[in-house]
Amino acid sequence: MQAPSGIYERYRGRPILKLIEEGYYKPWERLRVSHIRGGGLHVRSQSWQVEGPLRMLFHVLDPEVARDPEHLIVYGGTGRAARSWEAFEAIVDTLMEMGPEDTLVVQSGKPVAVFRTHKMAPRVIISNAMLVPKWADWEYFRDLERRGLTMYGQMTAGCWAYIGTQGILQGTYETLAFAAEKHFPEASLEGRLVLTAGLGEMGGAQPLAVKMNGGVAIVVEVDKRMIERRIRHGYLDTWTDSIDKALDMALKAKEARKPLSIGLLGNAAEVYPEILRRGVVPDMVTDQTPAHDPLSYVPAGMSLDEAERLRDENPGEYEKRSLESMKMHVEAMVEFQRRGAVVFEYGNNLRKMAYEAGYRDAFSFPGFVQAYIRPMFEEGRGPFRYTSLTGDPGDIERLDDELIATFKDNRRLVRWVEKARRHVKFQGLPARVVWLGYGERARFGRIMNTLVKLGEIGPMWIGRDHLDTGSVASPYRETEGMKDGSDAIGDWPVLNALLNTASGATWVCFHHGGGVGIGYSIHAGIGLVLDGSDESMKRAELVLTNDPGLGVVRHADAGYEKAREVGCSRGIWMPMVGC
Ligand code: NAD
Repeated sequence: MQAPSGIYERYRGRPILKLIEEGYYKPWERLRVSHIRGGGLHVRSQSWQVEGPLRMLFHVLDPEVARDPEHLIVYGGTGRAARSWEAFEAIVDTLMEMGPEDTLVVQSGKPVAVFRTHKMAPRVIISNAMLVPKWADWEYFRDLERRGLTMYGQMTAGCWAYIGTQGILQGTYETLAFAAEKHFPEASLEGRLVLTAGLGEMGGAQPLAVKMNGGVAIVVEVDKRMIERRIRHGYLDTWTDSIDKALDMALKAKEARKPLSIGLLGNAAEVYPEILRRGVVPDMVTDQTPAHDPLSYVPAGMSLDEAERLRDENPGEYEKRSLESMKMHVEAMVEFQRRGAVVFEYGNNLRKMAYEAGYRDAFSFPGFVQAYIRPMFEEGRGPFRYTSLTGDPGDIERLDDELIATFKDNRRLVRWVEKARRHVKFQGLPARVVWLGYGERARFGRIMNTLVKLGEIGPMWIGRDHLDTGSVASPYRETEGMKDGSDAIGDWPVLNALLNTASGATWVCFHHGGGVGIGYSIHAGIGLVLDGSDESMKRAELVLTNDPGLGVVRHADAGYEKAREVGCSRGIWMPMVGC
């Protein structure tokens, strides 16, 4: 999908911060936005509740944020922000025209209507990639996509809620910290070697997250440009195309207990078995290649150009080779586990693909949510993220201080904020992500809105990943192995989207196929704009309470004791859960 001439050119090399500085987009003069520190806000747009989604749309497609902005691809294989450039233009134009009581309806990346609703209603509602269950597979989806009828929105791409690699950095950091606490006596990755693969938008967080936990990482990546990009962004230290050299560097650093990250140019399906053959067993093994989509995963034995050609000319053959490679990849991971490594799948459906390719032992190792994240979900804890809509890094700094002061007893959170301040480079609008639980999110939202009202910070956007406590049904990932067997129950994300709509989120998104691919997940997301008004205080209070609240309820309903305790002790009304 090439941008029609002119449209992309208007944005190329003009990241969101530049657009804001220059005063804006197309007939940009119509919509000049200025933020005057201390003196309140002077906005010539209709409302920040409309301005927020507009800026976030530009933000997710900022060249520093998106993987392939020219094709509207934000991350995760082909996760898009809009269906086509025409649809993108129409969304921008519509948001610029809309009034504060209008609601824009977006069907898989295409704006289809604006309806008059009311002030507290969402300004945008979005549904991406939904298919009737019987038809929900990649083949059928791709046919519809080719015919211009749908779009793959991944989790946050089509919900305009992606914040670059930081979003996943924190989740990866926490997951690895949990895994280290669970498996290693020193409760850290110091002196440990982690083998993984994929340096894409999500996977690119892995090397830095390992280092932040004190460990040594080898990350196998098939595309040299992705390795270079990660080095440029400060997420990766060094690289090589030699397995021996990578192992040599890694084992020396491990011995010296010196954190180090190494990109290894190669195909994971070939490199993992090679490392086994050399008799090296890493302490931890995982993977973040785009296994959710066999047409994005690069099969073994092919150059990138060859893969590209085969993908175009014979997608069926490509998929076959891809699945065979994933089988080799997972066989090696299972063997690492047999030899004593801690092995887990990192949310890309790799085990299921290997299983489909005929490897019966593919599910020998667990998924990361079941193994490490679920206890956090039980308390309604999840990835709370925000950006400064005026592009001011000082606002994030101010809120970092506020986070540390407000949650000073939460050592894990304080440690993360301190490390993030040092290590995270902002991409697009300055952003921060922290995992906050039920009660904590609403509390911090109130603090943020008050600071906006006082003019101490500019208007803020709050959102979250769809990978969250009450917003997703994904039986090979977030809802794998639920206590009551309710893994595939899809009501919860639907209820989440409905509840957030009723609670007044600025925008609400409902998606299919994020993370693990078409047919395997459904999930919901939100955007919330805090403009310092009483109205946005009310939106914050309701959304930031009810959204994680439903996660607590979902887990209490499934029989998780901690969730029941949290729900009962904090007064969530759950008619059929005995409190
Ligand atoms: P991406 O498409 O941006 O990047 C994937 C990377 O893997 C690319 O750089 C590609 O060159 C590389 N690659 C492809 N095949 C390879 C192979 N055989 N060997 C080595 N490298 C290979 O994807 P992403 O956004 O980084 O996501 C990666 C996977 O993680 C996806 O399946 C995604 O759905 C899943 N995901 C995980 C989480 C999570 O929380 N862990 C969240 C969202 C998505």
